[in-house]
Amino acid sequence: MRVFAMTARVVLAGISHETNSFSSVPTDRAAFEASALVEGEALRTAFAGTNTEIGGMIEGARRAGFCLVPGLFAWALPSRPMSRALFDGLLDRIARLARDSAPVDGALVVLHGAMVVDGVPDADAAVVGAIRGAIGADRPVVATFDLHANLSPALVAACDMLIGYRTNPHVDMAERGAEAVARLADLLTGRRWQRAFRKLPLVSVSQTQVSADEPMRSIMRERDETVAALGLAGASVAVGYPYADVPQLGMAVLAYANDADVAAAGADRIAQAIWSRRDDFVPEVMPVDVAIAAATARAASRPGPVILVDVADNIGGGTPGDGTVALAGLLAAGAREAAVVLWDPEAAERACALGAGARFVGAVGARTDRFHGDPVAIDGTVVFAGRVHYRRSGPWMTGQLAQLGRVARIDVDGIHVVVTETRILPYDTQHLEAVGLDPRRLRFIVVKAAAGWRTPFEPLMSTCFYLDTPGAHAPDLSRFPFRSRPRPLYPLERDATWDGAGASP
Ligand SMILES: [Zn+2]
Repeated sequence: MRVFAMTARVVLAGISHETNSFSSVPTDRAAFEASALVEGEALRTAFAGTNTEIGGMIEGARRAGFCLVPGLFAWALPSRPMSRALFDGLLDRIARLARDSAPVDGALVVLHGAMVVDGVPDADAAVVGAIRGAIGADRPVVATFDLHANLSPALVAACDMLIGYRTNPHVDMAERGAEAVARLADLLTGRRWQRAFRKLPLVSVSQTQVSADEPMRSIMRERDETVAALGLAGASVAVGYPYADVPQLGMAVLAYANDADVAAAGADRIAQAIWSRRDDFVPEVMPVDVAIAAATARAASRPGPVILVDVADNIGGGTPGDGTVALAGLLAAGAREAAVVLWDPEAAERACALGAGARFVGAVGARTDRFHGDPVAIDGTVVFAGRVHYRRSGPWMTGQLAQLGRVARIDVDGIHVVVTETRILPYDTQHLEAVGLDPRRLRFIVVKAAAGWRTPFEPLMSTCFYLDTPGAHAPDLSRFPFRSRPRPLYPLERDATWDGAGASP
C-alpha cells in the first residue's frame, strides 16, 4: 500500500443545478450568487459543519488526513437551462483553479446530475471532464449526485465512482460526501472497481419518489440488501428529474464491485425491483376545490394543519413559487387560518413600504407567467413587514444562513398571505414562524414543494392532499412539450417494455 494518507492533495469542486426545461425562471449569475458561488477557502467557511456534500467532504477529508484544496462550487435553485456562456465561464474558472492546485492526487466533485445547458449535450459529464483535464486523466475522481439525477453513460464513464443520495426528502448529503472521501481514499491506494449501469425506460414524478413511502422504501431496502449480499463497493439509484428534457431522462441504477459479473448482478437485481413496481410510480392528485372540501372536513375532526401540496409550483423543482391557483381556491372556499407563501418581490416591497398595521389593496402572485395562474386581488392588513434571515435549524442544510429578503404577511379574512423577496423552499417551519405564524395552530398550509416539505411538516400535520394545479412541475407529464426525451418511457408510453439490458460505459 502506498503511503499517501497524510499527504494526498485533493481538489473539491462542482456545479449543482437541477434544470427544469419548461421553467421561465432565469439561471443567471445572480441565481448562483443567491445560493452559492464560492471558491477557495471561502468554501470551507460557507459549508464546514453543514449537512451538505461539501460539509461531509470537509469533515471526511479531515479524518482521512487529506489536504483538501477547495476550488469553485456553484449551486443555484432549480430553474430554466443555463446559457452556454455562463456555463463555459464557470467551467473555465473550475479548470483554472484545479490547474493552479497542481500537483493533485484526485478530485471530489459535487454534481446534481440533472443539469441542462443550452448547446451542451451532457453538462454534468462536461464538469467532470474539465476537472479531469486540469488535474490529469489518470487521477481518480469521485462525484456525488442528487437522487433526482438523470444519469447518462457519459457521466458514469467519466467518474471512477458516482455516489447518489439515498433519501428523499434529502437528509443524507453530508453522509454521502463523507462516503465519497472514503471511496477516493480506496482509489488512492490503487483499488479499482468494475461498474454496471442500467437505464430504465421509466419516468417518475416527485410525490412517488419519497424514500419512506412505497414503492421507494422497498426499492431502497432492496438496494441495501443487494449491497450486503453481493459485497458491492457501492450502489446508487437515480430516480430522475422528469422536467429536464434530455436524452438521458429516466430512472437508473449503478453498481460497483471488484468483479464485473457481480456488479452486473447487483445492478440487475435493483433495476428489476424498480421495474416490477412501475405502476406504483404513477401519481394521484386532486382538483383544488375537491382537495379543499376534503381538507375542510378533515381539519374539523383532527388536530394539526392539513397540508395542501401545490406540487405543480414546486420551487425546489424549478418553478417560480408565485402560482396563485391554490390561494384563489382557498379564498373562493372561504377558508380560515390558512397560510400561503408567494414569491412576489413587488408586493413584498410595497407592503414593507406601507408598514405593519397598514391596509394592503392590490394584486399578488403570478408575476412570472400565466402558466401558474393569474394575479389575485386581495384587500387585507399588513401584519408583518421587514427583512428576514435565520440559520436553518431543521434537518435540511442545517446551519446554513437563509436570507429571505423583504417579507410581508398580509391577513385577508383569516388567510395569511406571505409575500417574499426571494423564493422560499418550505423545507423548514422557520419562514412561517418568522412572520408570527405557528404552523401547529393553522388549519391549512399550502406548500410549494414536492417532497422536501415532509420533513418539517409531516410530524405536525393531520393529513395532506396533492393538488392538481397547472405549473412547470405538474405531475401530469403528458402536459409538457418534450423534444429530447427518450421513447418509450413508462407511463407516458403505457406499452413500454424493458428487456433488462443495460448500457455499459
Ligand atoms: Zn433532489
